[in-house]
Amino acid sequence: MKVLLVSAEVTPFAKVGGLADVAGSLPKALHDLGVDIRVLMPKYRSVVNVAGSDLHRAVEGCAVQMPGFLSGCALDESRLPGSDVPIYFVEHNDYFWRDAVYGPPGGAYPDNLERLSFLCRAAVALFAPLGWQPDVVHLNDWHTSLIAVLAKEGSLPFGTVFTGHNLGGAYQGVFPPEQTWISGIDETKPWVPSFLDDNGLNLARAGLACADMITTVSPTYAKELRDPKTGAGVSDLIRERGKDVQGVLNGIDYGYWNPETDPYLSDEDGYATFSLDHLSGKAACKAALQKEMGLPIQPDVPLLSIVTRLDDQKGLDLLSEILPGLRGMQLVVLGTGAKNYEDFFAKQAAMRPEIVAALKFDEKLAHRIYAGSDIFLMPSRFEPCGLGQMISLRYGTVPVARKTGGLNDTVFETGKSANGFIFEPYTAEDFKSALDRALAAYQDKAAWAALMARAMKSDNSWTASATRFVGIYEEALAHAVPSRAKKPAAPKKPAAAKPSAAKKPAAAKKPALKKKPPIQ
Ligand code: ADP
Repeated sequence: MKVLLVSAEVTPFAKVGGLADVAGSLPKALHDLGVDIRVLMPKYRSVVNVAGSDLHRAVEGCAVQMPGFLSGCALDESRLPGSDVPIYFVEHNDYFWRDAVYGPPGGAYPDNLERLSFLCRAAVALFAPLGWQPDVVHLNDWHTSLIAVLAKEGSLPFGTVFTGHNLGGAYQGVFPPEQTWISGIDETKPWVPSFLDDNGLNLARAGLACADMITTVSPTYAKELRDPKTGAGVSDLIRERGKDVQGVLNGIDYGYWNPETDPYLSDEDGYATFSLDHLSGKAACKAALQKEMGLPIQPDVPLLSIVTRLDDQKGLDLLSEILPGLRGMQLVVLGTGAKNYEDFFAKQAAMRPEIVAALKFDEKLAHRIYAGSDIFLMPSRFEPCGLGQMISLRYGTVPVARKTGGLNDTVFETGKSANGFIFEPYTAEDFKSALDRALAAYQDKAAWAALMARAMKSDNSWTASATRFVGIYEEALAHAVPSRAKKPAAPKKPAAAKPSAAKKPAAAKKPALKKKPPIQ
């Protein structure tokens, strides 16, 4: 099975949020399962800083037909760090040689539709000069949806899987009518009205309507999207697509997020690596983090943290409501984004010595915060999957999370796998009461140690989910190119019938393949 995963961001070459982590880690797990997986993303300025001399030319020149004009690109190649997974970088300096992925902080580049349409058209045009034709192209969020539209329009010989990492209203790739021509979509096709009309173009809906298979990043998010009340305006399509939509829980890269080997927990700054059997390093990390952040070094005061985009989605209004009344703790905030939240945390930090706000994106500090804090806050309004809670669990930092989306699938307050604290109604009182339960539990050293141990044992690796993706890729290929679908195993010879079991032999099961709807 040959699969090309296309994403606008891939860790460590360019990262805005969890999408980059997934695009940089799922391929490694698929590669371990024997899939010929390769990754494709734009060549931003940051790519050269990260990849340096590991970059080499894979394709010198490739024509890319845009609506009404001919353009072109080159392609560079490298490997995902620590693996043999090839990663390709589409070079087009006008579109991609920029400092940010989507736009300046809090904004979007005005030509995003054109840039991302170009990325999608280039991806498809590059198969021939590259000499490599994927069976399936795995698309990630609206940035890459147009590939599914092009594939369906042209009956192209590959299947498509569209993963909705975040389908919240602000993340659907909506463009006004005067811009839509640049996508070059053939508006005469019967499936187009579900994502393009007089109000403009909605690219998330395009992916949902046109891809052969759809996944969302957690089972609970898939359920939420089916419900018109929580379905972010896409529940009609999600329900229409029925069993083509599957909730597959994200994982994290257990090699990269590993407290035992994490290079950011370096001795010279007082940090230390640790594991479940050698937890003394965790205490060293707490002291080192307090020191680095200018907090009083107090081993017994619970150290709370939040590492996030500062966005309404993340429940920061709830935190803003309870923070002024919170005492007997320390808090480290790492995040950038909306100005109102940046101002709020900056003010709190200026007034209170037990609060620090690092208003920036800082990968190294993020690792140190996951390692050095006791309690991780994730009171999200909605959370398709969430990686922050998975990372914090891995580092023995107990999450306090809202019961929504992937948080509901990974953080449990009761039962054998209890690993954190949860609340459901989206209110400051409910968040405060879950946090109070966590702070009370922290006082009981033995119970807290047991809770930390369960947190660290939670399995959020890619192992199970990567295997599910292999099946989904096979289904997508069967939808798009039935002749290339994996042949079902020959039915077993019926065992010699015993006289008492002389039933009619069951008819050999037809493979459960759905036909692709007619293209015209
Ligand atoms: P989302 O994708 O909605 O941003 P996730 O929890 O799925 O949220 O993933 C967030 C990822 O981005 C995590 O790896 C988190 O550590 C990282 N992250 C978020 N903000 C920052 C920041 N300011 N500095 C460093 N890493 C950050």
